[in-house]
Amino acid sequence: MLIGKKYVFDAASLQFTRHRRNTREKLIRFSVWFGLSVLMTIIYAFIFHQLFGSPKEELLAQKVDEMKLKYTLLERKIDYSSAVIADLRSSDNSSYRAILDLPLIPENISEGGAGGINKVGDLTGYMNTELMMAVSSKFDDLKTQTNIQYNSLTELTVRAAEWKEMWAHLPYIRPVNVTMRLGDGVKFREKHPVLGSPRWHFGQDFRCPLGTEVYATGAGVVYYAGNDNDGFGIKVVIDHGYGYRTIYGHLSEYRVKRGQKVTRGDMIGLSGNTGISTGPHLHYQIDLFGSHVNPLWYFGDSLTEDEYFMMLDFLTRP
Ligand SMILES: [Zn+2]
Repeated sequence: MLIGKKYVFDAASLQFTRHRRNTREKLIRFSVWFGLSVLMTIIYAFIFHQLFGSPKEELLAQKVDEMKLKYTLLERKIDYSSAVIADLRSSDNSSYRAILDLPLIPENISEGGAGGINKVGDLTGYMNTELMMAVSSKFDDLKTQTNIQYNSLTELTVRAAEWKEMWAHLPYIRPVNVTMRLGDGVKFREKHPVLGSPRWHFGQDFRCPLGTEVYATGAGVVYYAGNDNDGFGIKVVIDHGYGYRTIYGHLSEYRVKRGQKVTRGDMIGLSGNTGISTGPHLHYQIDLFGSHVNPLWYFGDSLTEDEYFMMLDFLTRP
């Protein structure tokens, strides 16, 4: 029997004859087949879906995994950057800010002030909210830490520039380039070599030949140049700012004038023996806010060790 063709037994002719279906029968037959096919398709699709999920869903799941991985990697990068910044903060606090006399960055501020306000509220209601919020919050902290560190660096740069300027002005070298005998330092003289009376000596003397070049020991403005009969003979006074003034006395001549700007190492005059003096020497004095300070502490590394101890030695002599 051929599929799709129907034969019926004809009792009259005693043989099978082909039965021709009418349109109605054909329609019913088609509907049943079609219905079954649809049903089977649905059942297959359902089973497949249960077992494997749809390709689209699979793709989405892969994307979600990928995003999670990306977030996790991002989190690691943020952690690393935070650690680097914490390191910077630590060296800032322990070195630069301490050296440059700036207040330290408190730990709680530099951590970025986490917690409190829900800074990432717009991330609620998602499948991976927790992960997203954690990363976002860390990133916010990192931004805050970076800002604080940036501000600190700016502050350090400004302060360093100020200090550089200040160091250029402070008296820091010796005023004459002599390696010969140094003279008296700051000490009480029982008997002044000329006046004979007891008197304090508030400077450092350098014994040097007449006409030895005398240098400004720091940047500043010439406050006085001349002889005002105060015992120092011809003298130059330089105002360095920051409360400092240096006085160079007993000169034979001065080479600067009042109001002139000088930098460290500029020649300002020649040594001599003017004023109350027993021999050619330079009297070098440093005043800080009007009080005398010991020049011995202001020679930086311009003195050799021998010279330094020679000066100390002079202090203990009568
Ligand atoms: Zn002196």
